[in-house]
Amino acid sequence: MKVLVINCGSSSLKYQVIDSDTENVLAKGLCERIGIDGVLTYQKPGIDKIKIEAPMPAHRQAVELVLKQLMDPEVGVIKSIDEIQAVGHRMVHGGEKFACSTLLTDEVLETVESCNDLAPLHNPPTLVGVAACKELMPSTPMVGVFDTAFHQTMPPEAYIYGVPYEYYEKYALRRYGFHGTSHKFVSQRAAEILGKRPEDLKIIVCHLGNGSSITAVDQGKSVDTSMGLTPLEGVIMGTRCGDIDPTIIEYVAQKENLTLEETLQVMNKKSGVLGISGVSSDFRDLEAAAAEGNERADLALKAFVHTVVKFIGSYVAVMNGVDVIAFTAGIGENDASIRAAVLEKFGFLGITLDEKANDMHGEERIISTPDSKVIAMAVPTNEELAICRDTVEIVTKKFVEEAVNEVLK
Ligand code: ADP
Repeated sequence: MKVLVINCGSSSLKYQVIDSDTENVLAKGLCERIGIDGVLTYQKPGIDKIKIEAPMPAHRQAVELVLKQLMDPEVGVIKSIDEIQAVGHRMVHGGEKFACSTLLTDEVLETVESCNDLAPLHNPPTLVGVAACKELMPSTPMVGVFDTAFHQTMPPEAYIYGVPYEYYEKYALRRYGFHGTSHKFVSQRAAEILGKRPEDLKIIVCHLGNGSSITAVDQGKSVDTSMGLTPLEGVIMGTRCGDIDPTIIEYVAQKENLTLEETLQVMNKKSGVLGISGVSSDFRDLEAAAAEGNERADLALKAFVHTVVKFIGSYVAVMNGVDVIAFTAGIGENDASIRAAVLEKFGFLGITLDEKANDMHGEERIISTPDSKVIAMAVPTNEELAICRDTVEIVTKKFVEEAVNEVLK
C-alpha cells in the first residue's frame, strides 16, 4: 500500500510517500513559506533534490503541488492520485480524547477541533492540512496519529498539576506530553533490538532534538513524561526554557515591559540553550564555540545535560528501576559527547559506556559495555514510518469491515 504521510506546520508541510510493504520511502519533501510565497522541495532516491518556487497562498495549494509533483511523468512515483491508498496525518494535540490513532471522520475532526484551545499554535494548521487533503482526495481514507496519544496511559498522579482541581475539570488543564509517536517507536524498537518484549522492560527514552522530551516507559506504557500541557515544559531545549519557576513570567514581563504573550514568545523562541549561550540553538555550534573557550556556550551545554540527568534520575525512581536508557532525535542520535556526559552521572546504576560504540554514527546500537547493569542505546527515531504503520493498520481494519459488511448484505 502506498501511504502519504503529512506533517503540517503553520507555514510548512512535510510529506513522505512510503510503500508500506517494503517500508521504503519512495519520495519525500517539504513545502515552506505557505501563505508567504511558496517553495517546494522534492527528493527521490537516485535523483538530485528538486526545488520549485510556486505560489502557495494556503495549504490547499501546497497539497495540490505535492500531488502534482508525485505524479510528474519524469520524476514522480505515482501515475494517478488513486495510487495513494491512505493518508496519515501527524496531529499534535488530541487532549484526553485520543489514546490511539484514529480514522479522521467528520465527527473525529470536530472533536480534534474542540482541543484547539489546548494547542492554539499547533492544532489549527494540522486541521487545515487534513481539510486540504480531504478536498483533493475525497475517497482516500485519512488517519490521524496524535503526539499526545502514547502518553494517555500516564496515571493521574503523574499528569495532575498542583493547582486547583477544578481547572482540570473545567479546562482540561493537565500534563499531556508530546513526541509520543517517537517515544512509542523508540521504546518498541529498543525492545525488539534486545530480543525482548516491551512488557518486560523499564525504558527511559530521551528524545533530544530541537524540542526535547524524556519519557518513562514501564511495561510498554508511558507512565511519566517531561513535557506538559504544552511542549514548553521539561528539559532545557534549543530555544524553549523548559521548567522554570512560574513567577518568572510575571517578573520578566514587568522588568522588560512585555505583554504576557510577548513574554511567552521569549520563553518559546529566545530561551533554552540559545538564550543561555547567546550563540545558537544548534548543539554543533555550541560545541564549536565551547571548544574555542566561549563560557556561556559551555554553560548552556552543561545546563542542558543537568536537566536531562535530573529527569532520567527521577524516572528511575518513578519506575523503581530501569533496564534501558535510549537516546534518539537530532542530539540523542548524533551527539556522542552529550550522551557520554549524561551517562557518566549514572555510574552508580552500574552503567559503563562503550566509548567506541558511542562514538559511532547513525545506526541503532547498544552503547554500554556488555557487563553494564543498565543497557544504554542509540536508536534513530522514525516518526513518519510509525505514522505509516498506524495508518495501514487502521485502514486495513476499515477495508476488512467494509468487505465483511458487503458479504453480509
Ligand atoms: P526537531 O525537534 O526540529 O525535529 P531534530 O530532532 O532534527 O529536531 O534535532 C535537531 C537538533 O539536533 C539540531 O538543532 C542540533 O542541535 C542537533 N544535531 C543535529 N545533528 C547533530 C550532530 N551531528 N551533532 C550534534 N548535534 C546535532
